Amino acid sequence: MASLSLEHVTKVYPNGFEAVKDFNLEIQDKEFIIFVGPSGCGKSTTLRMIAGLEDISSGTLKIGDRVVNDVEPKDRDIAMVFQNYALYPHMTVYDNMAFGLKLRKVPKAEIDKMVREAAKILDLEKLLDRKPKALSGGQRQRVAMGRAIVRNPKVFLMDEPLSNLDAKLRVQMRTEIAKLHQRLGTTIIYVTHDQTEAMTLGTRIVVMKDGVVQQVDTPQNLYDKPGNLFVAGFMGSPQMNFLDAEVEVQGDKASLKIAGQSIELPPAKAKKVIEGGYAGKTVTFGIRPEDVDDSEMVVSTSKAVFESTINVYELLGAEVYLYFDLDKFPITARVDSRTTARPGDKVKFAFDVEKIHIFDKETEKTIT
Ligand code: ATP
Repeated sequence: MASLSLEHVTKVYPNGFEAVKDFNLEIQDKEFIIFVGPSGCGKSTTLRMIAGLEDISSGTLKIGDRVVNDVEPKDRDIAMVFQNYALYPHMTVYDNMAFGLKLRKVPKAEIDKMVREAAKILDLEKLLDRKPKALSGGQRQRVAMGRAIVRNPKVFLMDEPLSNLDAKLRVQMRTEIAKLHQRLGTTIIYVTHDQTEAMTLGTRIVVMKDGVVQQVDTPQNLYDKPGNLFVAGFMGSPQMNFLDAEVEVQGDKASLKIAGQSIELPPAKAKKVIEGGYAGKTVTFGIRPEDVDDSEMVVSTSKAVFESTINVYELLGAEVYLYFDLDKFPITARVDSRTTARPGDKVKFAFDVEKIHIFDKETEKTIT
């Protein structure tokens, strides 16, 4: 088991491109850390530096107390599972899992014990004699995990391990990986661009953009208290609604003027806006789709009610997404499927003022 630390880690590729900029992170033993962000943000590069598959241009990488910048990948006590989990097609599941141990000249009896233990953990015991082509995608993925488990590494690195699976299997394997983490109690670093995977698996999430860490936090905190506009928009599906609003201050009260209407802010939010000197300024107002409600009970008691015409209605079973515009800004509401609102209807909506997010329009940092 192991802790890891990355101090001022930077990656400049030979062509001069700076893919990772001043990356700092302390990873505790047994954590499940997720690197998430849009394509090209530097997630895989960071993971590959940890694995030793890419040189670190500057900065320090430690596993436990040992600086490993110049340690060979095979001597880092790390196992990596990739998205294309190439198994040897001519070998059985058993031999695929045993292969790495045989290379390392581990005694046969010990190999047998380790392979069978891993097979038990991954529910592969009945499949040990099969060849990869006789396995489902999810089973193959489990064999790939098994190959990593038998090495008993201090740290698991996983680069989009589920991206080749269909939607249903992805969800299934996601649960398997969560269980695996609990059972093995090992440190896992996992790369994905899928924010749902990030939210459900991670004990902490590192959100990256353009090679720069935007925020490191628990899934709940990232969702409830995003540090900037990018994180707010990236985490959550459908994504947070954003629109321009003007700040009006009177004494210790503050309101936001949106679409010609004023919403009074709760005292704690008003205080932040006033102290930040935003009186009279335009800010970015953010509200998550689930905090926009069309139910009569909420609308009738709310002080932040707007009216608009529904453009699109999407039924997802238990809930419905309603799309409309407010002051030319597109808004999504995630409401109960019992809603009677349909395209073309003029409907009243209430914003939950306690759940409002406000961002500085220039720096894009969170004000409250
Ligand atoms: P994805 O989700 O698409 O895999 P990522 O966040 O994992 O993206 P990386 O693969 O780490 O992104 O790449 C980060 C940036 O570095 C990208 O802009 C990429 O084009 C660039 N890059 C990657 N490898 C090299 C290389 N060998 N030389 C130059 N630039 C590279």
